[in-house]
Amino acid sequence: MKKFITITVGLLVGIFSISAQNWCGTVEHQKKLYTDNPGLADTLEERLEAFNRLQEENAANGVRNDDHHIIPVVFHVIHKGGTENISLTQIEDQIRILNDDFARLNADTTNTPSVFAEYAGDTRIKFRLAKIDPDGSCTEGVTRTFSDLTNNAKDNVKALIQWNPENYLNVWVVKSIENFSETDGIILGFAQFPNLLWSKSETDGIVLRDDHCGSIGTAQGVSGRTLTHEAGHWLNLIHIWGDEDCGNDQVNDTPTAKEANHGVCTNHFPWDRGCETGSGQTITQESGEMFMNYMDYSDGYCQNMFSLGQGTRMRSAINQYRVNLTTESNLIATGANDNYVTVDCAPIAEFKANFTYGCAGDGLNYESNSYNTPVDSISSYEWTFEGGTPSSSTEQNPSVIYNESGIFKTTLTVTNRVGSSTTIKEAYVNISPENADMSAPYFQNFESNEFPTFDNNPHWNWTTSASEDPSWQWTTEVSSPNLSPIDNNINSASIRIRSSEFNQIGEKHILITPSIDLSNTLTPVRAYFDLAYARRNGNSNDNLKVYVSKDCGRTWTRRFNKDTDALATNGGGNHFFDFAPTDNQWDQFNVNLNTYAGEGNVILKFEFSGEEGNWLYIDNFVVCNSNDLSLNDHPFTELNIFPNPSKGDATIEFELYQDAEIQIALNNIYGAVLAQENLELKAAINSIQLKEIYSSLKAGIYFVQLTQNGSGVTKKIVITD
Ligand SMILES: [Zn+2]
Repeated sequence: MKKFITITVGLLVGIFSISAQNWCGTVEHQKKLYTDNPGLADTLEERLEAFNRLQEENAANGVRNDDHHIIPVVFHVIHKGGTENISLTQIEDQIRILNDDFARLNADTTNTPSVFAEYAGDTRIKFRLAKIDPDGSCTEGVTRTFSDLTNNAKDNVKALIQWNPENYLNVWVVKSIENFSETDGIILGFAQFPNLLWSKSETDGIVLRDDHCGSIGTAQGVSGRTLTHEAGHWLNLIHIWGDEDCGNDQVNDTPTAKEANHGVCTNHFPWDRGCETGSGQTITQESGEMFMNYMDYSDGYCQNMFSLGQGTRMRSAINQYRVNLTTESNLIATGANDNYVTVDCAPIAEFKANFTYGCAGDGLNYESNSYNTPVDSISSYEWTFEGGTPSSSTEQNPSVIYNESGIFKTTLTVTNRVGSSTTIKEAYVNISPENADMSAPYFQNFESNEFPTFDNNPHWNWTTSASEDPSWQWTTEVSSPNLSPIDNNINSASIRIRSSEFNQIGEKHILITPSIDLSNTLTPVRAYFDLAYARRNGNSNDNLKVYVSKDCGRTWTRRFNKDTDALATNGGGNHFFDFAPTDNQWDQFNVNLNTYAGEGNVILKFEFSGEEGNWLYIDNFVVCNSNDLSLNDHPFTELNIFPNPSKGDATIEFELYQDAEIQIALNNIYGAVLAQENLELKAAINSIQLKEIYSSLKAGIYFVQLTQNGSGVTKKIVITD
């Protein structure tokens, strides 16, 4: 019988680990901080040990800490104007769930098995939205910041806005979180442990996905318990399995657990994974594991308790690390005290338009996103639209037409009985003529010191994104030796950007071309540019994308996407000091524009992001029909091979921008041709299986080569056993 059970459990575990997702990023976040800050680990482990020792001493000496605590909270919603800009009601729903769970007022306490129920309890910790901000102004406990960083967020969002962590629990709500762990899965939230407060106060707080914040709005259908778990970490709780095989979570009334439990729920009780009872442990392993504890990885609706010991540990963390946070004076200063009388706040003006780019004659729909007060308390909206018809409006969500091309500002003032606020967005609307003033071949050699704006020729203007970081800049340091098809014989300047100077990792730095008329340009059409780039060190992680629009920038299609290795033109080595390319360290890159031939207004957008990279230079930007300029050219846009490395077969995928007879070849590492085929293919995305051209593929390194008339592209593929 015993044997049978063991086998069954083994099978179940096997099934669960397939779907296992490490949705909490707290431990990985701490590991990353340790890697990035040598020496920090030792300090913090010492602090943690001292904390654990004190806990044991207090328990042995009967020292109690039964005080009740209230924690003022601020939610910083980081958004791009989409659904991730969640409502105050959704945030209030999250606070309700958090408080129910911490006070054991949750509706599902009846699911706690009776052997554990007597150890489950109220943590005596409450959370309240702050009513007074750090400036002493009235707040609803929610700030809203418009930023790209809401996608794939990490610690970088914390630099956008943080209220003093000695006074507030900061929660950043974002669209998605970068998975910085070694395992697959979607990170729903991550916290920073309190013993890091003195060393890394600038990152103290919790990052949470909007679709797991509360249980309504964008989080409809979820339990809202991600924040319960993360707030546990933020108050020094460790995962219930101690992050080790049958590890120690430093709490006596939680049984030892083998590892994270995924998908384990009420019907699996009792759930024994074979750990031994630890010394001082109150509940023996015969009761099984406490998978319904908030600090496990079981699904939110299977969780229902903190143990009394966990409550004690969290209150000790407040007493040791977060002393100021719950003092009466701090509660009064943040409006989180019991006697605080809620008042209406003055609104904060904020707005968005459905598009900020368009063609002359296009209409835009504006929407007020003003906050910090209930919408129905706002008594007036005063809009002004430079360049728009009408030029002003008192509606909440007005529509405006822009008949002339130009770059225009928009202003909104909102007022309620308490006060008013104004937000001005300079250069918010960018309107192009329906047919661009310039036609192909278009050439910009970046030689004029007027770049990017030309006072006497505004239709030549390039636009760069407004950014507080150093961004795209004009330079006379280096210039390309003209790899591009038009040789102008002037080589003294170029433009450049460097991610190692960015303050905001993850921010996208935009460079937009003027609009170009391709209505009389026949295929093949491409944009060409000369590029030089080097990594700075092993951590360099840069990306350049190019997007194309044919509707004056309203919508964009990505046509180019290259990372660090693909961008490097210096052979791939590190350049710690300023990278200044030699003539042969420039390469010509291009973007296929065939689908844009015949369009009256085509715009290209360069989007650069990254970290720790050296200079990326661009020079000699050309849009033209490549035949007109007798280019030595091949018809391939991209060559992708996937999976790579591969265990067997792989897919070779490439786009042809014209019908062509091409040659595909497979070479081994010594250059010997293993297979070769000529193919007549259409202008489309084509794909071929590697085994179709060479069936006896063995483990090794190969090169796939596509050529036409002696010119082409090559890519490496690794086949493993
Ligand atoms: Zn966790």
